[in-house]
Amino acid sequence: MKGIQDPRLVPIAEKVLAGERVSFEEGLVLYQTQDLPTLMRLANWVRERKHGHKTYFVHSIRVSQTNICYVGCTFCAFQRRFGEEGAWDWDVEEVVAWIKARYQPGLKEIHLTAGHHPKRPFQYYLDLVRALKANFPEAQVKAWTAAEIHHFSKIARLPYREVLQALKEAGLDAMPGGGAEIFAERVRKRIARAKVSAEGWLEVHRTAHALGLPTNATMLYGHIETLEERLDHMERLRRLQDETGGFMSFIPLAFQPDGNPLARELGKKGFTTGVDDLKNLAVARIYLDNFPHIKGYWATLTPELAQVSLDWGVTDIDGTLIEERIVHMAGSPTPKGLTKGELARIILRAGRIPVERDALYREVRVWDAVEA
Ligand code: SF4
Repeated sequence: MKGIQDPRLVPIAEKVLAGERVSFEEGLVLYQTQDLPTLMRLANWVRERKHGHKTYFVHSIRVSQTNICYVGCTFCAFQRRFGEEGAWDWDVEEVVAWIKARYQPGLKEIHLTAGHHPKRPFQYYLDLVRALKANFPEAQVKAWTAAEIHHFSKIARLPYREVLQALKEAGLDAMPGGGAEIFAERVRKRIARAKVSAEGWLEVHRTAHALGLPTNATMLYGHIETLEERLDHMERLRRLQDETGGFMSFIPLAFQPDGNPLARELGKKGFTTGVDDLKNLAVARIYLDNFPHIKGYWATLTPELAQVSLDWGVTDIDGTLIEERIVHMAGSPTPKGLTKGELARIILRAGRIPVERDALYREVRVWDAVEA
């Protein structure tokens, strides 16, 4: 590859172009380099080798059946206590009614995540999945993070395997990737002390994959973690993916700066810039060579940066969402939802091919310039 400004990138570029895996130390160089054009070209090379110009999105709705949670993660602006202003806690019928009121034909994915509700029994979650499958049979249910599965396992006094098996039998199609935050113990202790441990998170996903439930993985970055801790996070995901092959996408989530104790503690320090976001996506695309997709989540990146991210390794910009709440309660200034046409246009105007997918990354339709 010609035009490399940072000599440390020369051997790394040779490896990447040969399809070889980069090491932890090389991953750190990728984070540290100021040679952004080379980093971008390498990430883009990997994305085009895997998917050409195709860029995926899904017609999805985001639902949180409750924001009541006892866990107290310090980065979270979503959690409420019983009776607190702004708290909600819906029965199964209310969740179904909420979706029906916003339903648009062709919905492919119902994405459910919520707080850890201390009183709802496990049966409630099984009933919820069944009701969603019965009322919206054309949509797939992508529901509950590993942290929530861990919570269900505690309230039901069942091992992960039985919890996941029961949810799968009720109709669960896939799992989102949340709750991973940063795996390193030093960080986890400060931002998510009472949440599932890193080992627990990985074990839930390992178990889901063994049961044939595909999942995704996230990383919450841009707060108190070091670059080594970000890479350690990716390293653990890469190893599990080598073992199971069950991850579909990796989604870096930029820390949102409003309405949570961690943001107050950090003041105006520590929030990501566009360059951080793009670098992080590019490093992920190169480092996680065994992940099919890197997602540029437009709701935290902004639609404009998501568009740019398509040159930095991203092959998926998530979905229509319709009424996203979690990152918006933490101050994300982006729209709460976009139409399919808007998502397709974002992709087309970045010179890529918009491919509508379902929750399992099966192609639904390729959009062309006229339709968008
Ligand atoms: S991130 Fe999730 S588990 Fe943590 S406090 Fe917020 S709702 Fe609860």
